[in-house]
Amino acid sequence: MTENLNLFTSTQGIVKEALDKLGYDEAVFELLKEPLRMIEVRIPVRMDDGSVKVFTGFRAQHNDAVGPTKGGVRFHPEVSREEVKALSIWMTLKCGIVDLPYGGGKGGIICDPREMSMHEIERLSRGYVRAISQVVGPNKDIPAPDVFTNSQIMAWMMDEYSRIDEFNSPGFITGKPLVLGGSQGRDKATAQGVTICINEAAKKRGLDVKGSRVVIQGFGNAGSFLAKFLHDAGAKVIGISDAYGALHDPDGLDIDYLLDRRDSFGTVTTLFEDTISNKELLELDCDILVPAAISNQITEENAHDIKASIVVEAANGPTTSAATKILADRGILLVPDVLASAGGVTVSYFEWVQNNQGYYWTEEEVSEKLLKKMTEAFENIYTVSNTRNIDMRLAAYMVGARRTAEAARFRGWV
Ligand code: NAD
Repeated sequence: MTENLNLFTSTQGIVKEALDKLGYDEAVFELLKEPLRMIEVRIPVRMDDGSVKVFTGFRAQHNDAVGPTKGGVRFHPEVSREEVKALSIWMTLKCGIVDLPYGGGKGGIICDPREMSMHEIERLSRGYVRAISQVVGPNKDIPAPDVFTNSQIMAWMMDEYSRIDEFNSPGFITGKPLVLGGSQGRDKATAQGVTICINEAAKKRGLDVKGSRVVIQGFGNAGSFLAKFLHDAGAKVIGISDAYGALHDPDGLDIDYLLDRRDSFGTVTTLFEDTISNKELLELDCDILVPAAISNQITEENAHDIKASIVVEAANGPTTSAATKILADRGILLVPDVLASAGGVTVSYFEWVQNNQGYYWTEEEVSEKLLKKMTEAFENIYTVSNTRNIDMRLAAYMVGARRTAEAARFRGWV
């Protein structure tokens, strides 16, 4: 049988397994297996050359039993309905895992911002908000940045929504520039959360992060900040990669130099001749491996060749279900995406809280609160995994799904 690489159906499979283990009946799975609302919009945009191009966008609201839905908007040529749906389910799980008063949402537009001017991106961003304005809002569904969207795009979206709403509405969206109500520490929150999980996993395995050998796939927002944090903590980052190849130095790479030379899309390996492939990178002899790029990277094809003793998923969906089982059988500790990459949505929540109260926290306060949330979540899931004798992914799905299932039950939905 060939391996299931479809993120949506494989996510549904693990949700089903988690709900069965929790003892919920079929109706709960029926409720959680799809978003409650999935809208598709068409957005006409006047391009710089005077022509009009019509883009397709999506917004999925997985479940709002706990509270408003929350999740990023990605701009990418490969965005699809199925991907947005799967990502919205993951957001429900992530919010449950770190105990935020939200359900999951996600959005996306099929486009390639690398080939568009700033003016075209601005018109597209504003058009998207106009198209979805009736179903989003600070107490309904709160977007955020994701792949190829940034704080400038959040600022345009917030401005457009505020005009429609006729109020200044900073709580409509997170990941904004600081001057428009963004939070300190939001840009590095995902990498900080991953670092916290690495520290906790290392403690469980009796490994000292200082002096450990780390490999990171992807050198974008998540991977590059992570490389810097680990390098500064005394770890040896011996491999990094981007979409074009990978760099390896068993004595440790010069991370500050690479950070200085990377471009805004996370590309740096094109500056070097002596590169290895992403496949070789994943199989390097190391202590900690962090996939921080794209999905389906560790599969049943290469799971037997992974040398790391700890794998921490910064990317969404980098390890398939079959590979997860192989790694578990080999005694490799895998910290799943829905836990490891929850730092971003956690600080987005902090941003929303600050917007709602109109009082802003220092970077130290944000970091301290993030550390508490992530450490508690890790410990909780690690305990469930040990007591139930299941891998941490299934444990994380159980913790994440239970809260929404309970809220739906109290509301009388199931
Ligand atoms: P990004 O676009 O900033 O960087 C992606 C990196 O991956 C780049 O270095 C790119 O060159 C590399 N890459 C792309 N295709 C590749 C391939 N085929 N092989 C190897 N490398 C490849 O993205 P990001 O924000 O750093 O996100 C990375 C992953 O982390 C994604 O899966 C994203 O969903 C997940 N994530 C990010 C955040 C966040 O706050 N940034 C939060 C949660 C999850």
